[in-house]
Amino acid sequence: MRATFDNSYARLPERLFARQAPVPVKNPALVAVNAGLARELGIEPDSITAAAIAGNEVPAGADPLAQLYAGHQFGNWVPQLGDGRAVLLGEVIDSHGQRRDIQLKGAGRTAFSRGGDGRAWLGPVLREYVVSEAMHALGIPTTRALAAATTGETVYREGPMPGAVLARVAASHIRVGTFQALAARGDTEGLKALTDHAIARHYPQAEGALGLLQAVIAAQARLVAGWMSVGFIHGVMNTDNMTISGETIDYGPCAFMDEYHGATVFSSIDRTGRYAYQNQPDIALWNLAQLASALLGLIDADETAATQIATAALDGFAPAFQAEWLRRFRAKLGLTRAEDGDSALIVGLLQRMSTSRADFTNTFRALAVTGDASELIADAGAWESWAPGWQARLAREPGDTAATLRAANPAVIPRNHRVETMIEAAVGGDFGPFHRLMEVLAKPFDDGPDTPDYARPPAPGERVRQTFCGT
Ligand code: AMP
Ligand code: MG
Repeated sequence: MRATFDNSYARLPERLFARQAPVPVKNPALVAVNAGLARELGIEPDSITAAAIAGNEVPAGADPLAQLYAGHQFGNWVPQLGDGRAVLLGEVIDSHGQRRDIQLKGAGRTAFSRGGDGRAWLGPVLREYVVSEAMHALGIPTTRALAAATTGETVYREGPMPGAVLARVAASHIRVGTFQALAARGDTEGLKALTDHAIARHYPQAEGALGLLQAVIAAQARLVAGWMSVGFIHGVMNTDNMTISGETIDYGPCAFMDEYHGATVFSSIDRTGRYAYQNQPDIALWNLAQLASALLGLIDADETAATQIATAALDGFAPAFQAEWLRRFRAKLGLTRAEDGDSALIVGLLQRMSTSRADFTNTFRALAVTGDASELIADAGAWESWAPGWQARLAREPGDTAATLRAANPAVIPRNHRVETMIEAAVGGDFGPFHRLMEVLAKPFDDGPDTPDYARPPAPGERVRQTFCGT
């Protein structure tokens, strides 16, 4: 793989990472290469080999390392996590002048592996590939998938599974947990170096630790509102799975909702519903409060003053989220201007959708395509009691409301049952469903010949109730 690396993270103090080459595998074979993304990164797609993605050959200029981080997992503090099965190959400057990380996930054991095998299996690798690329096509900030390869080795989870590696691209892999790790060690110098690095990289206008905190609060408010607008449930919003850049990261037991219900949970290990759909804004704020605590010492030398300043910044999350949420859901109703009753109109629809167990994606798409969702919001009188208010509001809207509606309401999302059957087929050696899914999800707002099939909600027997962590 020929790339022009410039590895700024590797120039930070050495205690922020552990140098680690990917561990070679038995028999690498390419599954997919994202040629468009490769070109954006200045990488000739044909130079992306199985050996490079599986980690058997380290590209010239790479400086592979595992990053240190800590984190709150399901609310519990874990002082040391870190890349236990991923190595950062290095950074490139893309065609827009943006610095991007290239990481191999599933690349073998590192200094942070604890009891783990350092590996990934094909299922989660393909899920992350498909869902992250779908998220990008939906216009929501996310890490990307550059390539995937199988390793020819067996990984043991619930049973023997084919091993795989995902080459992932991110604005950076710096997480809330990266700051927490240094703060917990009392490493003010390291924290300062990381803060300066994150500011230069993501928010060059931000002033100091407070400016960084405010920028991350705004980015996360935008991100989570984006998730809510497409019915996405991250599933494991631990502080180590929340980026500083505001990109979605770590697609584990994630899923898009079929039937709309606020309490929907997908992870089998999320027994209390901590990371349910409707809790995501609250959890984002909770995670941001952990970032604020980690940064306190850099915000003000006086702890009381620092706490007051940080609390005021955190108070900005709710209004920022609410504004982004309203903007997103207004657009889903075809509205670009603001009127006082808009919030009630949106909530009125969501309540009816919840009662009727209406399909989230298809209900909004029906508003865009036919303007009639009466077959989805099927409870007696439910649609009729909402539609006239919406139609009257739409009539007061200038401009092309049809275009607004179509651009805000995708026809296809990566439905969980399609992702699961795609994984089953791939494990059996058939990558056809993976490639077809990728093709449809690349243009989620278009109606193509395959759209009706991929837009179909699961039949009762196809429903995936939970996505197992099985990573
Ligand atoms: P995740 O749940 O994937 O976000 O991972 C949480 C932590 O567990 C991270 O520090 C990972 O690097 C680590 N981890 C997950 N799976 C493995 C594995 N198979 N081997 C080593 N470390 C792992
Ligand atoms: Mg993670």
